Amino acid sequence: MINVTKSFLPPRKEYEKYLDQIWESHWLTNNGPLVKELEAQLKDYLGVQYLQLTSNGTIAIQIALKAMGITGKVITTPFSYVATTSTILWEGCEPVFVDIDPETLCINPDLVEAAIDGDTHAVLATHVFGLPCDVERLEEIGKKHGIKIIYDAAHAFGCRYKGRSLLDYGDAATCSFHATKLFHTVEGGCVITHDAALDREVSLKKSFGHIGDEHFTLGINGKNSEFHAAMGLAVLPYMQQNITERKMLSETYDESLKGLPITRPKLPEGLEYNYAYYPVLFENEETLLKVVESLKKNEIIPRRYFWPSLETLPYIKSKSTCNISNDISSRILCLPFYNEMKLRDLRKISDIIMSSID
Ligand SMILES: *Cc1c(COP(=O)(O)O)cnc(C)c1O
Repeated sequence: MINVTKSFLPPRKEYEKYLDQIWESHWLTNNGPLVKELEAQLKDYLGVQYLQLTSNGTIAIQIALKAMGITGKVITTPFSYVATTSTILWEGCEPVFVDIDPETLCINPDLVEAAIDGDTHAVLATHVFGLPCDVERLEEIGKKHGIKIIYDAAHAFGCRYKGRSLLDYGDAATCSFHATKLFHTVEGGCVITHDAALDREVSLKKSFGHIGDEHFTLGINGKNSEFHAAMGLAVLPYMQQNITERKMLSETYDESLKGLPITRPKLPEGLEYNYAYYPVLFENEETLLKVVESLKKNEIIPRRYFWPSLETLPYIKSKSTCNISNDISSRILCLPFYNEMKLRDLRKISDIIMSSID
């Protein structure tokens, strides 16, 4: 079977080296030395000032919303993973969906501005597949209307835009370090901010809101363990090499799929891309379903990512429709794509797509 993704594992010895340190210290969790070391290395790698490791990318969004005091309406994108919406609801806020730009697949800033009213506190936007949102426009809109811009940057690790890590944009950005992501700690995530007071609030919130016997704020358990940090420390040195390999695989896919009625998202000027996913857009849903069926017959499992458009979730009360997001969701497919993918498998996938389209 060929799955849409296959988690990267570092050489086992390199992970075990960190396990030896855990056995030495008997310190398993609660902001231990490996968590601190990984936070320091990630700040350095990403060039960001404040970063707090969390237990996953979903709690990272929840903690960011809570720490920034976001209530009321949050303008958000319908074209993302369900966690971008569920976190808003879970925090007792109201998601307001506005449509995406068909080129960037990210939220349309004109529609964001038009949707702002007196009860809007924030925008939660996703850098879809590591393609940057219109960060400059959104920053301007945030300043003009006094609302916070938060990025779900779960896909953006390793992307640089206009000379800066994409994770460095926004009042806050969150990332996921789930096993299926480009950089992972098995389970994990982080909150990136630009302000010492907010960083401290995030740090308190992820560990029950107290330090020792002193209670400061309402908190939850969003910490991560030494074992997870160990995986991150062992994976991080392979990032550049993994991105280079993925770029090569991505170009090989482009070459093998050439001439087919398939479109690919365009990379904007100024982006150093991470090649985290390989999404393709078919002409219509019918073609997509035909391709999925043929691939499945060959035990190849792609993923309809993202589908469905989030404003159509059964627990969403508002009746907004986002036509572009619905259209894109219905015909976008992420093909199997991971480090150490065999070129033979890649060609087989391309051949199956080719013969099921004709
Ligand atoms: C993976 C992902 C999340 C959730 O992260 P977890 O670490 O799995 O909780 C949120 N948003 C997006 C866009 C994602 O891809």
